Amino acid sequence: MLKIKELSYPINSLEPYYSRETLDLHYNILYKGYIDNTNKTQEKLENSRRENNFTNIKCLEKDLSFYGSGVILHELFFENLTPPIPTSPDNELLEEIIKDFGSYETFKSQFTSASIEVEASGWCLLVYVPNFKKLEILQCEKHQDLTLWGCIPLLVIDMWEHSYYLQYKTKRPKYINAMWNIINWNIVNKRFREAKNYK
Ligand code: MN
Repeated sequence: MLKIKELSYPINSLEPYYSRETLDLHYNILYKGYIDNTNKTQEKLENSRRENNFTNIKCLEKDLSFYGSGVILHELFFENLTPPIPTSPDNELLEEIIKDFGSYETFKSQFTSASIEVEASGWCLLVYVPNFKKLEILQCEKHQDLTLWGCIPLLVIDMWEHSYYLQYKTKRPKYINAMWNIINWNIVNKRFREAKNYK
């Protein structure tokens, strides 16, 4: 069961930039809603596993992604805020920002523009992409687009047609059942160990 994470500052301490009323609504009502719905979804998934009944799986996986990503992004968001005292990127981050964006000002312009132009409901994020060894700015629509932010993939299966059509035609179940025989669990184990030690 997920629990609400405490704020590290008083609820009125972001004023005047972020009002007590706004934060109260955002934190106590909306964020709590994501926690509750993620817990409900986890419970439904637990029941599905217990009953070995996955007829509703597509809906549940979507809910997990939406609500779960909602929890994670809100926790990052609240943690990202502080009462108005001056803070700044440290030397290490600033060096990376300058390397990847040219200057702090350019980074700020790109981030600001990207935030303004997020389509409909979504987020703007500064992220580190270990694969690229680089900072990037992302616009996220809704909370997820079917991922959980910050997750570390352990096992991936390509479900694009190009990965199975020649051999299995439209029979996705046959393909996935076959793949279970050829998974390198040593690699999955290794990734899991690393993921657990991450941070
Ligand atoms: Mn929100």
